[in-house]
Amino acid sequence: MNCNACQYCMPCPYGLDIPGIFAHYNKCINEGNITEDKGDPNYRRARRAFLVGYDRSVPRLRQAEQCIGCGHCVDACPQRINIPQQMRKIDRYAEKLRSGK
Ligand code: SF4
Ligand code: SF4
Repeated sequence: MNCNACQYCMPCPYGLDIPGIFAHYNKCINEGNITEDKGDPNYRRARRAFLVGYDRSVPRLRQAEQCIGCGHCVDACPQRINIPQQMRKIDRYAEKLRSGK
C-alpha cells in the first residue's frame, strides 16, 4: 500500500486509524510476516507478529473491522488507495489469523 501517512483521509467518522492500520500492514509485508499458508514454516511467527503488533499499534476500536464502508474517505486519498476495500482485505486477514491458531 502506498500510504504515506498524509492523514488527508482522517478523521474517519467511525474512528478507524487508517494510516496506522496501513503502517502496521506494510511493516509486516516488509518484514516478511504476511502469510496465510499454515504449511509455511514461518506461519506461527508471522501470525504472532501480525496479531500482537496490530493490537499494540492500533486499539481494537480503531482497527479495520470497524469499517462500515461508508466511503467518506475514498476521495480524500491522493494515493488513490481504495481504502474501504483494503480495510476489508486487512480485516479478513486478521480474522483468518485469529481463528487459525
Ligand atoms: S469507508 Fe471505512 S475507513 Fe473510510 S471513512 Fe468509512 S468507515 Fe472510515
Ligand atoms: S489519505 Fe491515503 S495516503 Fe494519506 S493517510 Fe490516508 S490512506 Fe494514507
